[in-house]
Amino acid sequence: MMEGRSIYLPEHEAFRAQVRRFLAAELMPNIARWEEEGIIPRTLWQKAGAAGLLCPTVPTEYGGAGAEFRYLCIIDEELGYTGQNSFTIQTHTDIVAAYIEKLGTEAQKRRWLPRMAAGELIGAIAMTEPHAGSDLKAIRTSARREGAEFVISGSKTFITNGINADLVILVCKTAPELGAKGVSLVVVEADRPGFRRGRRLAKMGMKASDTAELFFDDVRVPVDNLLGTENRGFAQVMGEIPKERLSIATVAMGATQKAFDITVAYAKERMIFGKRLSDFQNTQFKLAELKTQIMVAWAYLDQCIARQMAGTLTSDEAAVAKLFNSELQNRVVDECLQLHGGWGYMSEMPISRMYVDARVRRIAGGSSEVMKMLIARTLFPRENAP
Ligand SMILES: Cc1cc2nc3c(=O)[nH]c(=O)nc-3n(C[C@H](O)[C@H](O)[C@H](O)COP(=O)(O)OP(=O)(O)OC[C@H]3O[C@@H](n4cnc5c(N)ncnc54)[C@H](O)[C@@H]3O)c2cc1C
Repeated sequence: MMEGRSIYLPEHEAFRAQVRRFLAAELMPNIARWEEEGIIPRTLWQKAGAAGLLCPTVPTEYGGAGAEFRYLCIIDEELGYTGQNSFTIQTHTDIVAAYIEKLGTEAQKRRWLPRMAAGELIGAIAMTEPHAGSDLKAIRTSARREGAEFVISGSKTFITNGINADLVILVCKTAPELGAKGVSLVVVEADRPGFRRGRRLAKMGMKASDTAELFFDDVRVPVDNLLGTENRGFAQVMGEIPKERLSIATVAMGATQKAFDITVAYAKERMIFGKRLSDFQNTQFKLAELKTQIMVAWAYLDQCIARQMAGTLTSDEAAVAKLFNSELQNRVVDECLQLHGGWGYMSEMPISRMYVDARVRRIAGGSSEVMKMLIARTLFPRENAP
């Protein structure tokens, strides 16, 4: 990771070393096999829980470590720095557990968070539908009240952890006639009758991540499973989104740094035309350009982390981080793969995985185009639009 960042103290760096050791010992030796299987086994989630990698910022009374935000950032950076994007702790911790911690009732927090921190319950968030991704307001999955229950029907797709998930935060319409003002968040446990998992979707990258379709055929859940306030779901999602985008930007930086570091090492070893690859001015200039962009991106990321900790990070600042770092990661993996030549195209080489795993970054969690739209709104506020 970039040296000399003032945002982290020695205790944070000690934790980083611990996280790095865990991922190197437990995840990376098995990742190729799990990519073939298309899923990461639950046992790894449990080990990660025991090692303190899940839900570190959740208060101790709910099973977490009560750690401050920077510990979460370190886990995200280190996940990125493994050079794989399949172990989707980020969805589980930074999104699902964070929603429950922020919006949940005392009973909900006690029911779900301790087992999520232990890796016994795996979380998923289900927003996207086959016809509605960027346009979240267009979702159709509905939950209608019948007495003390919601009856849910609809379907979701592209859901990370969809096969492993034990609980799903479902974004659905509780008052379809109200549009975005009729959206709610409802927790659905996977053992509810009528809940069904569809295909585990084959993907170009993130191959060990179980991305799936989910179906809800008149699934009944108690109204106690409502998360937050009924019909305020859209605003609640928007409230959490800056932090989520910051965490995506953070994982992206870890991954970018890894691609860069392994390429510098490769350039020093690879011999062509009787010289080292690193002796060519093209190689040196390419890597100097990338280093420049990477250092500037770390500085902006650290500024955003500090602002998140101070409670002042805005939606457009987070969008800038998400846009820039996603695009940077993709530029860097592409240039780095090029410097690997034909070996870069071989699946056995880590840069090859980094290349395919990076591509999703510009799409999921709000695409680059959506980020630009959000940033543009600060320039041309909608109330001034013709
Ligand atoms: C691997 C993976 C994992 C995912 N995990 C989850 C998950 O766990 N939970 C979940 O709910 N979803 C998940 N998603 C879905 C993801 O969030 C959506 O794919 C994403 O929001 C884009 O939506 P879409 O696929 O419907 O594309 P569309 O919305 O159909 O976008 C099509 C194109 O239009 C562009 N576009 C969109 N809006 C605008 C605009 N206003 N102006 C100009 N261009 C625009 C987009 O950038 C894109 O280029 C995942 C997706 C992938 C690929």
